[in-house]
Amino acid sequence: MPEDCIFCKILDGSIPAKRVYEDDATIAFLDINPRNPGHTLVVLKRHAEAIADMRVDETGRLFEAVKKVADAAKEAARADGISICQNNGKAAGQVVAHVHVHVIPRFNNEGPPSMESILQVKKLADQDLGRIADAIRASIGVESYSPREEMRMARKEKPEKKEEKKPAKEEKEDLDDDFEEFSVDDL
Ligand code: 5GP
Ligand code: ZN
Repeated sequence: MPEDCIFCKILDGSIPAKRVYEDDATIAFLDINPRNPGHTLVVLKRHAEAIADMRVDETGRLFEAVKKVADAAKEAARADGISICQNNGKAAGQVVAHVHVHVIPRFNNEGPPSMESILQVKKLADQDLGRIADAIRASIGVESYSPREEMRMARKEKPEKKEEKKPAKEEKEDLDDDFEEFSVDDL
């Protein structure tokens, strides 16, 4: 374990924390700077900096613990919802370089409630979406889907096309105001 890792120190007991859950793979304790009452960090016991450093079986164990903690924190804080956030790398806002998941109780009377509060929606051209999807598939090792396959899958996912709700015109206009021009060439 790195000498200067705060979460490893909480794990070995040399720094105190309000622990709420523990199993052989994970530990959970309250965040010292809670964004809401019940804000809990679920931490992998093995020191790994980010998700890229985790084994696949560890990601499963971590999310099992997140589910337990999320259900309990929602009930304990009498929350209306739960946000689950996980930052990897400085660019993503990670401050403590030891894998952890934020479980944050959320309330109907707070706002803005969703991802738009931390990142603006970006307007991306369809061909840019295609290029970034191809790059992600190539990185995972999934072959490109043909347009015909994509249409078949879309039909499978949404069999009842008639019932699809279009956003109300006003909502759509609001969303457009929030768009930021963005090109894959910027990457
Ligand atoms: P990150 O930005 O890395 O995703 O989040 C790190 C979190 O760890 C922050 O929300 C911060 O408040 C919390 N934190 C930092 N130091 C300590 C500490 O010593 N004890 C506890 N309980 N939480 C900490
Ligand atoms: Zn650590």
